[in-house]
Amino acid sequence: MDGKSGMKTYFGGIEAGGTKFVCAVGGGPDDIRAEERFPTTTPDETIGRAIAFFEAQAKQVELAAIGIASFGPVDPNPTSPTFGSITTTPKPGWANADLAGAIGRAFGVPIGFDTDVNGAALGEHRWGAAQGLDTFIYLTIGTGVGGGGMIGGKLMHGLVHPEMGHIRPPRGWDNGDFPGICPYHGDCLEGLCCGPALAARWGQPAETLPSDHPAWATQAEYLALALVNFICTLSPQRIILGGGVMGEQQLFPMIRQRVQALLNGYVQSPAIIDRIDEYIVPPGLGNQAGVLGAMALGMATV
Ligand code: ZN
Repeated sequence: MDGKSGMKTYFGGIEAGGTKFVCAVGGGPDDIRAEERFPTTTPDETIGRAIAFFEAQAKQVELAAIGIASFGPVDPNPTSPTFGSITTTPKPGWANADLAGAIGRAFGVPIGFDTDVNGAALGEHRWGAAQGLDTFIYLTIGTGVGGGGMIGGKLMHGLVHPEMGHIRPPRGWDNGDFPGICPYHGDCLEGLCCGPALAARWGQPAETLPSDHPAWATQAEYLALALVNFICTLSPQRIILGGGVMGEQQLFPMIRQRVQALLNGYVQSPAIIDRIDEYIVPPGLGNQAGVLGAMALGMATV
């Protein structure tokens, strides 16, 4: 697409994570013009680095819109006075940070803004593992746990946005007294299953746990219990599991097997009974799902 100035137009994307920001400019998965990643520090410094990245890009190409897929909780309601802000995060300095406002004021282009997981879901819908579907969920298991997706072709919103990472999985079977690490709920799904929870529980960073460590069977059971609840509640046509912890590929067959066992034949769909390998899947966009999803949020504004 060519812009008013005759320069080719591109879209910006910001994957705003609690640990790192990834900024990119491009037109899709095969057309990334520039990308930069940096740690999430203070809002001023981090947003300033994002603005500097896009300012440099804007000298060479026309930016049609910028999408922001943010850690949260966030205010995704465009009619709200605090639209585009992070709300109640425990991350120091970031509560009430006006992310979309700061970027929008700097560039005067349309800003798409949503949760990191709704962004990733939109990117997967456009280019990845959810193409052609209208009801699916995208769950990330990494520094935190979050879920988003589409129902009937629309990104999930409501009162605010889903908080699938903070449901309460049943305990008791896990013969442990691990209290979980969610500062709000203790042993919610995130409090039990995010990377830092694994490290706290097993005494070593999650990525150093061997693939046959008992931690993974426990992890798969928590996630399967959660997925069964989401399947029964939302009837998704597919479930995409991303995030750093899901880089542990051995989790996928364990989760699939436990989901089938826990549902016990009740949800009579061949997708679950015969083709579960295609039902619970990693992101089609791999570890680019986040930043491409942010870009897709930008594209959706124009
Ligand atoms: Zn929680």
